[in-house]
Amino acid sequence: MNEAHRKPGYRVPGGSGSRVVDGHIVPDYDDYMKSPLWKLRRTRFIDSVDHRCESCGRPEEGPGGMGLDVHHEHYDTLGDESQDDVTILCRECHVDIHEEIGADRIFEAGLDTFGRKKYGNRWAYQVGYRRVSDEFNEWLDWKADQ
Ligand SMILES: [Zn+2]
Ligand SMILES: [Zn+2]
Repeated sequence: MNEAHRKPGYRVPGGSGSRVVDGHIVPDYDDYMKSPLWKLRRTRFIDSVDHRCESCGRPEEGPGGMGLDVHHEHYDTLGDESQDDVTILCRECHVDIHEEIGADRIFEAGLDTFGRKKYGNRWAYQVGYRRVSDEFNEWLDWKADQ
């Protein structure tokens, strides 16, 4: 997978090759996903949730089964994940969660532009994140009605 094919929402450390950060080896994402170590961990994670999607309960195999993916909640512990760092999802829920992450990013970017135009660069501190995001939501509603 090259950089251009990565969906927004993925935060992957490093470009290519492993790096050492704070004394820990952070593996290259693509290499790690192909490694026997990851395969072993992946199997263990899936075993521990009884081979079911943590979101909708769909089984890995059998009727309705479509396989399971291990979704990283973040990449801070890449190469040294624990169960808390990942969520086991069926293909459908996995696609959904990445669409949500993508939509969140688009919202955040739009909100920042809106806040800057209306209140200046420090809008979040000066006016408050909550109030400006409420105003932004109203503006989006208003715009959708035009
Ligand atoms: Zn699911
Ligand atoms: Zn994922």
